[in-house]
Amino acid sequence: MSNCIFCKIIKGELPSYKVYEDHKIIAFLDIAPINRGHVLVIPKEHYEDTLETPDELLQTMALVVKKISKAVMIATGAHACNIGINNGAESGQIIFHTHWHIMPRFKGDGYELWKGHDTEYKDNEASEVAEKIKHNLQ
Ligand code: AMP
Ligand code: ZN
Repeated sequence: MSNCIFCKIIKGELPSYKVYEDHKIIAFLDIAPINRGHVLVIPKEHYEDTLETPDELLQTMALVVKKISKAVMIATGAHACNIGINNGAESGQIIFHTHWHIMPRFKGDGYELWKGHDTEYKDNEASEVAEKIKHNLQ
């Protein structure tokens, strides 16, 4: 994808602080980290988001994310980490090239994910939604 920022990083046309590379995947520091050591793990092949990415590649990415997460934790002294994936604009995705965030977290760093939890199920809604999801597994 000629216009994709992450494809440009892969090709070396844009700079990055790379922390990992193999023949399928690279990982580099997020330019605007939530905390220092926030890493993005991306496939070298362009796919718009995680749901569009082939299973086998995602399996490989998951193992790389685990490996890098441990390194991030040690390197930053983080107490915990979030591994995050946005799929689609409404979820907050702004770069449409598959990427998984590894975000080191510290006690009292002030971030809160999924603030709210304000939705409630009424009557049979929960079982209906659960059934619909089960029905649509492919
Ligand atoms: P998302 O909201 O999941 O699409 O996240 C995209 C991430 O890419 C954001 O956290 C940005 O800070 C990060 N980002 C955007 N441009 C660059 C870049 N040139 N180098 C590194 N990270 C970037
Ligand atoms: Zn791309």
